Amino acid sequence: MVVKLKFEPKGVGHAGDEFYLQVMENRCVGCASVERLVRFSIVPHVFRSQLPARFKEHSSHDIVLLCHACYVPASEASQAMRSRLLMECSIAECNGLDVNARRFHIDDKKMQARGAASALRHPHLPHDVRLAKEAVVREFLGIPDDVELTPDDVEAARTMDPKVAVDGYVPPDVTCITRLRLSEESAEGDAGEVMEQRVFEFVLGWRLCLLESVKPRFLPNGWDAQRSIRKHDDLFGPGVEGIAAAGRIPEGSDSNSTNNINNNTKHDVSR
Ligand SMILES: [Zn+2]
Repeated sequence: MVVKLKFEPKGVGHAGDEFYLQVMENRCVGCASVERLVRFSIVPHVFRSQLPARFKEHSSHDIVLLCHACYVPASEASQAMRSRLLMECSIAECNGLDVNARRFHIDDKKMQARGAASALRHPHLPHDVRLAKEAVVREFLGIPDDVELTPDDVEAARTMDPKVAVDGYVPPDVTCITRLRLSEESAEGDAGEVMEQRVFEFVLGWRLCLLESVKPRFLPNGWDAQRSIRKHDDLFGPGVEGIAAAGRIPEGSDSNSTNNINNNTKHDVSR
């Protein structure tokens, strides 16, 4: 029988949270491999970054370690889910047809100078063609005709990036979060609980996506798809310094792991 708490324990420190109290190991949550581990964000970073700060704990719950073999299905499922969400929100991805959805445009003058510089590397370029190409590069770089074009000038023109950022570009993921009213600004006027429920369901969807794609057998104790999205301290109180740190992934490292088989059907904290 599943017992779900209907109240929120307060002031019990991390003793109330099985997830934070375990000793972590470095291994894949899918298959327990210890080779070639990568940190995998269950909710993709660009989506997560738009969620209200109070739902963004710096904890390891929604970042897991995966080996390369388990990362592939997780990543594919995650990308498919992202595409589905964008489609549901009627957001056209950059496909070369929708100019407004483009992040960059190509600067024709840069492209031309880059092409000319590339051609100049050809050792047997006919003399007149070489002069013409040099003139293009010269003009682009603003080098007068009487100043010699150096190999560095040519290389600079050849390797420049012809892409120019489009002003006011908004990534489709950010638009998606706004349309789903999951960011603080887009949910203005909604009651706190309504907003929390909406964000919770969004996060839950990503957690289920991981469970379905990887079928992980080695998630940490207390890992729960239904876990509240509230910060740990909001749920359990501030906890005890030192003990808390034992259960967290240091930022930017690969030390997340587990030491026990998880039971995902368990509901160990209230929402
Ligand atoms: Zn694995």
